[in-house]
Amino acid sequence: MADEPIASLGNKTTIQAAATPYMDLLARKGRNGLLHTVPEGFAPGSEIANLSVMGYDVASVYEGRGVLEAASMGVDILPGEMGMRCNLICLDGDLLKNHSAGHISTPEAAELIRFLDDKLGNDVFSFYPGVSYRHLLKMKGGDKRLRCTPPHDIPEQPFRPHLIQPDSDEARPTAEALNRLIFTSQEILADHPINKKRIAEGKAPANSIWPWSPGFRPKMRPLNEMFLIQSGAVISAVDLIRGIGVYAGLEVIMVEGATGLYDTNYEGKAEAALKALKEKDFVYLHIEASDEAGHEGDAPLKVKTIEYLDARIVKTIYEETLQWDEPVTIAILPDHPTPCDIRTHTREPIPFLIYHRDIEPDSVQVYDEFAAKEGSYGLLYGDQFMKAVVGAAHDKR
Ligand SMILES: [Zn+2]
Repeated sequence: MADEPIASLGNKTTIQAAATPYMDLLARKGRNGLLHTVPEGFAPGSEIANLSVMGYDVASVYEGRGVLEAASMGVDILPGEMGMRCNLICLDGDLLKNHSAGHISTPEAAELIRFLDDKLGNDVFSFYPGVSYRHLLKMKGGDKRLRCTPPHDIPEQPFRPHLIQPDSDEARPTAEALNRLIFTSQEILADHPINKKRIAEGKAPANSIWPWSPGFRPKMRPLNEMFLIQSGAVISAVDLIRGIGVYAGLEVIMVEGATGLYDTNYEGKAEAALKALKEKDFVYLHIEASDEAGHEGDAPLKVKTIEYLDARIVKTIYEETLQWDEPVTIAILPDHPTPCDIRTHTREPIPFLIYHRDIEPDSVQVYDEFAAKEGSYGLLYGDQFMKAVVGAAHDKR
């Protein structure tokens, strides 16, 4: 939800423009600060930022998107195996038309991935279906020192210059095998009935695979070994976040109607979080809606998603847990900014608040990017945020 000042909002950020009485209340009763979530050398992606929020050292645990999504699909990446995100993409001759095969439906994609696994799967390669165009390719004995291009970075560009390149001599056989697999997939997908049907309907065919983001099994310690947390749960519509949760030792809770968009089931997610909190002592509740509105460049919609978060999640959780005998710490933060003006992620530190009934408040009166700068936590890095959350009950200045 973090942003930059926007001219059409009177030079306010989306958080400043949104009416957020409950987040403001918690900022006033709690303590505030900024958190650096994207370490140097990493692109500001959700997987990087969420790993940082949970207190992980990204440089030592990050193994690409594929293996994180594998965890949320229930696919184990074993020692000696490499996982890659495998997109179904649309080519038009030599051009990479789009990275999503026209946002192909999950059932159509699942049939194609099963077909690919049937024809091309063997002792080395196996394909696993995911959601829409996002799938998993597992390779036994692969070398991950590869240069791969995310297909969403090269729309309408020739694909051949962006085929997989080895970053070391030892990785050359892996790169060659993967590139052969890409070309073979093109041969056998061209005439598949699903693609013929899609073309007849004027839709983009899924006529190639595009593997990228290679990695091995992440060496992530569960959160209960890193912090004073016994048990926890994760609630998110996004498979990457759920996958991080799996490696973090959190129970994945699925909520019906959780879409990852502005129309998500806010009430259902708040209810699921409260229920989980009665049994566990940590819940990571993730709402994607504001990020998507930022990618759309839709400032009024983004403001609305922040108001929904305040009124339909924060209010519910604050008011309900106020009644509990066991006090609850509430921390609120985005993972990274997605400014509406540029429609993509940035690496600016994000504003956070931490509330506990016994915490000694700082002087901050509202929750936003500028007010948080004056907070008593200052600028935090690495696992300092999680330590602050866990220690909030005892935080006195
Ligand atoms: Zn995003």
